[in-house]
Amino acid sequence: MNDKADSAAPEEIRDYIRDIIRDDLAAGRRDVIVTRFPPEPNGYLHIGHAKSICLNFGIANEFGGRCHMRFDDTNPVKEEHEYIDAIQEDVQWLGFDWGEHLYFASDHFERLYSWAEHLINAGDAYIDDLSPDEIREHRGTLIEPGRNSPFRNRLMAENLDLFRRMRAGEFPNGARVLRAKVDMASGNMNMRDPVIYRILHAAHPRTGDAWCIYPTYDFAHGQSDAIEGVTHSICTLEFEDHRPLYDWLISHLPTDMVPLQYEFSRLNLTYTVLSKRRLIQLMQEKYVRGWDDPRLPSLRGLRRRGIPPLAIRDFISRLAISKSDGVVDVALLEHCVRELLNKTAERRMAVLNPLKVVIENWPEGKIDELDAVNNPNDESAGTRRINFSGEIYIEQGDFMEEPAKKFFRLAPGREVRLRYAYFITCREAIKNEAGEVVELRCTYDPESRGGSSPDGRKVKGTLHWASAQDAISAEVRLYNHLFTSENPGAEDDVLDDLNPDSLQVLENCWLEPDLANAPLGEALQFERQGYFCPDPDSTPERPVFNRTISLRDDWARIQKQNKKS
Ligand code: ATP
Ligand code: MG
Repeated sequence: MNDKADSAAPEEIRDYIRDIIRDDLAAGRRDVIVTRFPPEPNGYLHIGHAKSICLNFGIANEFGGRCHMRFDDTNPVKEEHEYIDAIQEDVQWLGFDWGEHLYFASDHFERLYSWAEHLINAGDAYIDDLSPDEIREHRGTLIEPGRNSPFRNRLMAENLDLFRRMRAGEFPNGARVLRAKVDMASGNMNMRDPVIYRILHAAHPRTGDAWCIYPTYDFAHGQSDAIEGVTHSICTLEFEDHRPLYDWLISHLPTDMVPLQYEFSRLNLTYTVLSKRRLIQLMQEKYVRGWDDPRLPSLRGLRRRGIPPLAIRDFISRLAISKSDGVVDVALLEHCVRELLNKTAERRMAVLNPLKVVIENWPEGKIDELDAVNNPNDESAGTRRINFSGEIYIEQGDFMEEPAKKFFRLAPGREVRLRYAYFITCREAIKNEAGEVVELRCTYDPESRGGSSPDGRKVKGTLHWASAQDAISAEVRLYNHLFTSENPGAEDDVLDDLNPDSLQVLENCWLEPDLANAPLGEALQFERQGYFCPDPDSTPERPVFNRTISLRDDWARIQKQNKKS
């Protein structure tokens, strides 16, 4: 894992792809840098895609070029409009803009078809009547060369006629395919006469019933790059073995544009699965609520969880762009989130597991308005007024009847500070029949208003609180990793690694009243607890908040330990 400096100026970002681009520009091989982000619209985007998005759009921005948004929509069976719209929204949410450069591989279907005929005419492609199973058998293995199909030497005219009849819909699915005539003995399986067109009688989200043959990935991706004038086609490592085919096809097609493919390693994260197939399974089998479940690494999920797009971009900017696979500690992402929210989020007080406190010497009916700081890291955020009265709530965890050794919070006879308010001393703990503490009786020191005492006496604990009279009742959802294993699915089925405690719902929380009006998308720090945001399930009567992240920073702790050892 590579942990780069926090804020390198854009022109200083260095990695092997950017170095190649600098060389290409310096040598005059390219004038304008054109990249693309090419999702297949068969699911929602996740944080792995964000790495590709930030890289492609980032490069275009840094080098004054452009990045195309291109949908790789060549498989009508799995693709849907819903995904096309959501993907665009998510890329925009991350803060990137493709301007007028929105493309679909399906925009190019007519050109791709004519290029396929071009290959046939040049003797570089043929129609194969073998069944899919027979084609597989003929392909050979990693140690054995493939065998030529008996249809490999079909006459050009017959190939052309059959291809046109495939397009006209004369044949059922799977009856024939168009294959590029490359080399059945190649050591690279992708070069063994790859299928470039298949028959699929299926309606396409964009082209409807216009086509019943569709190009494969290999005959759409590089071709779309060439048609759109993409210069650097940046993809993940699993396409490295496709590169010779990418180059072969471009060199056999009637185009002067020669895009080149470069690969980088995928993002993998601890405690996380990043695969659309897996994410779809988790949803369909109802382990999570939907694509935007805040426990998912989908961009929708991260957004609902309250993770700001800038934190994601900061996180991605700290990753190595290289050709070696690795797994990134999810604590680094969490660290980026905390670092940003610590600067930007306003502070509020919220009691999540309430314990009632009655202040016995509080003047009956009195309400005291106190000043509270909105953000100690940002003076311009100002202050707010909060009401204090004779009945408040504190956290159950802030009281111990028999305090443990290093417990400095409230206990019988002990005095603590209530944040922004007064010192209180616990006089009595009242219990229910089951022996549980249900209420505390305390007294306050009127001289300690604002949180200090004129006689200079010190208290060791400062607690947050909510005023019973005007706090609002809310539901708060606490999230933990969706998986208990660092590498889910490494040992057994992924599902066996699901964390049964990934969601904890607290129904009985008390919040500062102005939180009822917090707009969606607003991040707040609940003091001493973490960062939270309103959930779309909120209603005016009943706000619902998500915990984005707790305050404890595992990443900072790990870094400290590393320094020590
Ligand atoms: P998944 O494996 O999650 O289903 P995919 O690779 O099939 O994803 P595509 O829609 O084809 O998804 O991906 C669009 C782009 O995003 C591709 O260029 C792909 O290489 C890149 N990408 C996908 N996952 C990651 C990842 N984990 N890290 C970096 N880039 C990724
Ligand atoms: Mg893919």
